[in-house]
Amino acid sequence: MTDEEICAVGEVLRSGMLVHGTECAAFEERLANYIGVRHAVLVSSGTAALHVALMALDIGPGDAVIVPDFTFPATANVVELVGARPVLVDVGPSTYSITPDCIETALSRWSGNVTIRAIMPVHQFGCPADMTGIMEVAERNNLLVIEDAACALGGSHRGRTIGTFGNLTCFSFHPRKTITTGEGGLITTDDDLLASKLRQIRNHGIEYCDGQMDIVRAGLNYRMTDIQAAVGKAQLARLDGYIRKRRSLRQTYESLLRGSKLQLPALVDGHTWQTFMVILPDDMQRETVIRALREKGIESNLGAYAIHSLSYYRQRYADDCERFTYDSSDRLYRQGLALPLHPDLTVSQVQNIASALLEVFQEARI
Ligand SMILES: *Cc1c(COP(=O)(O)O)cnc(C)c1O
Repeated sequence: MTDEEICAVGEVLRSGMLVHGTECAAFEERLANYIGVRHAVLVSSGTAALHVALMALDIGPGDAVIVPDFTFPATANVVELVGARPVLVDVGPSTYSITPDCIETALSRWSGNVTIRAIMPVHQFGCPADMTGIMEVAERNNLLVIEDAACALGGSHRGRTIGTFGNLTCFSFHPRKTITTGEGGLITTDDDLLASKLRQIRNHGIEYCDGQMDIVRAGLNYRMTDIQAAVGKAQLARLDGYIRKRRSLRQTYESLLRGSKLQLPALVDGHTWQTFMVILPDDMQRETVIRALREKGIESNLGAYAIHSLSYYRQRYADDCERFTYDSSDRLYRQGLALPLHPDLTVSQVQNIASALLEVFQEARI
């Protein structure tokens, strides 16, 4: 956060207008321009964005939705919360994102009494999924596409900005993402009707007709505040610079760690590098490495979760494990290690982190 954000928040506080208002409208306009889409609809979190998106597309009981198994649990949770059935599928071993092949396999093996109606590709850690292939599969099978682009604001696929592919695309402004508003989320679409549904759902189901307020559906309060939007506007102006810095630091990591026993993430064009997650060799315990790095003053963590192995999903959908395999997701959940990566990190800090990691390997004689 810079003085710019602090001043912008001060102005909102002095104005006395705190909830969704002119700051949100201005931030929405800038986001729509930046992404190149007709509608940008701000909400209170990335999870709220996903929830509203499913509601607006009338996905609910009787529907199934394809969700990558390796993700942050919110992607699957919202499917549960609208009463639909998540169909968890494996991801690519080095992009960590869902692939058209994984989706085709799931479609061919699915035999539940609910029909698959939608795909929710996740651009994992900012790595753009193959939207060309995914949109083809979706069209062939008449499926809706709701992208979880929580980590991918500013990313692109084949030169086209993320947020312009699926029926709806959802973003997050949580502090772990490329830009932040504290908490916050966004949905983008080119569809006017869907956009007005999204706006109704985030605001109690309210619609104004001739200045008269009416409730046209049962909605929620998922509004962003003007305080948050003021922060977001200042952050958005620096997004491209942040991404450039992240890409350059990723390259530094790559040059220092290439040739080691670590498996490095695939280099995909348009990646925002929200997280830099490497894969530890199978004979190393991640907890041991995290502890050893912590002793050297370096923070590291797991990257994301294999959803099928978490209690709620394991108990509910045990039979899925007979139908599907989760080899990549299991490995990424067990051996994935997220290393520090943010725009204020210096090249020499990255050098220290890389040598500390290689030292840990030597100490373990790997
Ligand atoms: C962060 C994240 C979310 C949730 O976003 P919040 O703003 O924290 O609710 C959902 N999906 C993915 C892939 C994420 O990384």
